[in-house]
Amino acid sequence: MFDYHVHSEFSADCTVPMRSSCEAAIAAGVTEIAFTDHVEHQHSDLGYGYYKIEEYLRSVEQLQADFAGRLRILKGAEVDFHTDTAELVQAWIDRHSSEYDIIIGSVHYGDDARIIFQEYFEGKTIDDVVYPYLDQLEAAVRTGWFDTIGHLDIPKRYLPKTLRAYDPARYRDRWSDLFRALIDTQTAFEINTSGLRQTPKTSMPGPAVVRWYVEAGGTLITTGSDSHAAQTIGTGILKTIDMLALCGITHVASFSGRNRRLVPVEELRAVPAKT
Ligand SMILES: [Zn+2]
Ligand SMILES: [Zn+2]
Repeated sequence: MFDYHVHSEFSADCTVPMRSSCEAAIAAGVTEIAFTDHVEHQHSDLGYGYYKIEEYLRSVEQLQADFAGRLRILKGAEVDFHTDTAELVQAWIDRHSSEYDIIIGSVHYGDDARIIFQEYFEGKTIDDVVYPYLDQLEAAVRTGWFDTIGHLDIPKRYLPKTLRAYDPARYRDRWSDLFRALIDTQTAFEINTSGLRQTPKTSMPGPAVVRWYVEAGGTLITTGSDSHAAQTIGTGILKTIDMLALCGITHVASFSGRNRRLVPVEELRAVPAKT
């Protein structure tokens, strides 16, 4: 089981020491963990300037030595992307990306440099949020800077109850454009299991999007819990592997030094673990 989206004390919104997360990962049956702390490029973000890359890299190296033979620990980053900050993102990628095993590209901000939380929806329709969001995702993919793209339809997580339910089928044409970009650039996307334990009660994205991706010829998927707490590490990953298999995904991507290796889902299902 691969949990390739885990935060640690190197993220402003997380206080869990990496060592506790590694112990929790082993207990949950996770065999590979990637610490993917936030690398922010929006000045307005609370975590802007918080990330300490040298300390981060040294901490992971220490843990790699300490947990050798028990848990594969990857150097990862969740890099915030928006076309408004693309130059800053590119500078960071050019300078640092070779030091990592896996880099997630995630969109967290709307067009007006406001984070896509509940308040962002005020005075907007779902379409006002989702169409520009999908445009940003496609722009992120087209850069070719990222190994995988984080939580594809995260706006559904923050949808106010006053708006009607989110239906991914409504954006089918835009998903097709996004899949084309993913396939052209050989970029994966993640199944983010945090949605299963939070409001949407479905992964981000859910099975419908995965099926359309498979129909479009897509094959590259990563899995991650987006944990900000040790007890959620690995949760929902086995369920996700079953879901992926039902949708026609035959492999899950593993990374090392930003090189991708595809692991058959049967191998991952064979690992005994809770949830
Ligand atoms: Zn994120
Ligand atoms: Zn995250």
